[in-house]
Amino acid sequence: MMLDPVYLIVSLVALAISGLATMGVKSAFAKYSQIPNRRGLTGAEAARLMLQRAGLTGIAIDPVKGWLSDHYSPSEKTIRLSPEVYNGRSIAAVSVACHEAGHALQHQRQYAPLALRSLSVPLASVGGGLGPIMCMIGIMMDAGEHAAAGTDVGLWLVKAGLLLFGSVAAFQLITLPVEFNASSRAKAAMAGDGILIGPDEASGADVMLRAAAMTYVAALVTTLLMLLYWAYRAGLLGGRRRR
Ligand SMILES: [Zn+2]
Repeated sequence: MMLDPVYLIVSLVALAISGLATMGVKSAFAKYSQIPNRRGLTGAEAARLMLQRAGLTGIAIDPVKGWLSDHYSPSEKTIRLSPEVYNGRSIAAVSVACHEAGHALQHQRQYAPLALRSLSVPLASVGGGLGPIMCMIGIMMDAGEHAAAGTDVGLWLVKAGLLLFGSVAAFQLITLPVEFNASSRAKAAMAGDGILIGPDEASGADVMLRAAAMTYVAALVTTLLMLLYWAYRAGLLGGRRRR
């Protein structure tokens, strides 16, 4: 089972998909972090401006260590920006910072998918760890049960594992509208509030934000691939004749 060639292929495809997405965001950031924005705003200044124009007060904007570790914390009402974004005066810095401000806006406007995503975090973090282990144990038990013509505990365990692991896919699915929407809010604000000037700056921001969004799409696709694999291994897709 550990040397299952199908598992190897699925893993390699998943690795390639997430690798490509990471390369995409790295190269977009490398390119657009070298291009200064015409207004000379730092990421932190741009995010602050976007929040002010939206009438949003009481949001902290703090620097945080790490490469592209930028995020918004709803519980702390804080936007955290990586050093290159916080201090950077590039198109990339402003785009990423305004994307995070977009999340703060979603929070304040009670954007439903954001709330749903926050709710699904605990289940997904348990499911991501426990789901695959349950599938693996269940499949091994199932094989033993077939040999001994026993009960269906193994298969039951696989199904429960798939359900748990499926919560990760559900979380990643609900993440997509949240991320795309934060980027649309950022783009609208960057153009409308005059943060970026001219179509070339806008299209740079487009490329940057699209590349970032692709990492979330890739995460969902790789989870779905693994889900399909476990379902196939358990014979739930007709990949293995049962009974
Ligand atoms: Zn985001």
